[in-house]
Amino acid sequence: MKIDSVQVRDLTHSYGRRPALKSVSFSLPIGVTGLLGPNGAGKSTIMKLMATALPVQAGSISYGDLVLGKSPVRDVRRLLGYLPQRFSIMGTSTVIRNVSYAAWAHGMKGKELSDAVEYVLEVFDLSDRAKSRAVSLSGGMRQRLGLACALVHTPRIAILDEPTVGLDPVQRSELRRCISRIGQRSSVLISTHLVEDLVGVAEQVLVMNEGILCFAGSVVELAQAGVSRERAEGLSSGLEAGYTAVLGASR
Ligand code: ADP
Repeated sequence: MKIDSVQVRDLTHSYGRRPALKSVSFSLPIGVTGLLGPNGAGKSTIMKLMATALPVQAGSISYGDLVLGKSPVRDVRRLLGYLPQRFSIMGTSTVIRNVSYAAWAHGMKGKELSDAVEYVLEVFDLSDRAKSRAVSLSGGMRQRLGLACALVHTPRIAILDEPTVGLDPVQRSELRRCISRIGQRSSVLISTHLVEDLVGVAEQVLVMNEGILCFAGSVVELAQAGVSRERAEGLSSGLEAGYTAVLGASR
C-alpha cells in the first residue's frame, strides 16, 4: 500500500434524519494523524465507518485498491486495527492470553503469532505484566492492553478512538510514546479532545465541528491559526489557541 492511499471522500452520514457527517474528505499518510473536535463533532462516526463497524451511506472510503462497501469486508479488515471507545478484555485471563487470542483472531499462528505477541507487549511496556491477570491492571495498563490487542497483527491502518480518556498525564505521555512507535510503519488515526495529546506525535491534525471538517494541516499550521487569539485570550498554548480559532471560524 502506498503512502497517502487512505482516502476519505465526501463522507456523509446520518442517524435517522439527524446529520452526523457532512461531506468530509481527507487522506492519511503513514504516521500519526490527530482527529480533534468537541463532543458530538462526528469523530467516532468517522472512525466507525473507517473500521467497517457502520456501513457507508454516501461518499467513499478507500484503502489502496480496496473500497469499503464494495471490496470483500474480510480483505478490508485484514488491514485494520480498531480500538473503539469501549472495548472488552478477558479479565480473568492473563495479559499474554488476551493478546495471543487477539492475534489468533486476526489469523496469526505459530512462531509468527508468538513473535508478534512478544513484540507488541514490549512496545506497550507490558512484558513484565505478561502473566498478570488483566483485571489486576491499572487504567493506563488496561488501555495499553487494549491497544496491544488492536495492533498485534501490525495493521496498515490503526484507528484509535480516544485512547487517552481516563488516563493521568504520565500515562498519557507513555501512551503517546507507544503510538509514535506504531506510526513509524502504519497510518494511525487517533481521536482526542486534548490538543496536548498530539504535540510531538501527530504529523497531521484534522479538526471536526458539527459534522464538518473545519481544519486539516500540520500541528504548526494549527498553532499559527491561533497566534492572535492566544495573545488576546491568554490561552495556554499556541496549539490550543489554534484549535479554538478554527472551531470559532467554523460556526
Ligand atoms: P464524537 O465522537 O465527535 O463525540 P459522534 O460521532 O459520536 O461524535 O456523534 C456525532 C453526532 O451523531 C452527535 O450528534 C451524536 O449525538 C450523533 N450520534 C452518534 N451516534 C448515534 C447513534 N447511534 N444514534 C443516533 N445519533 C447518534
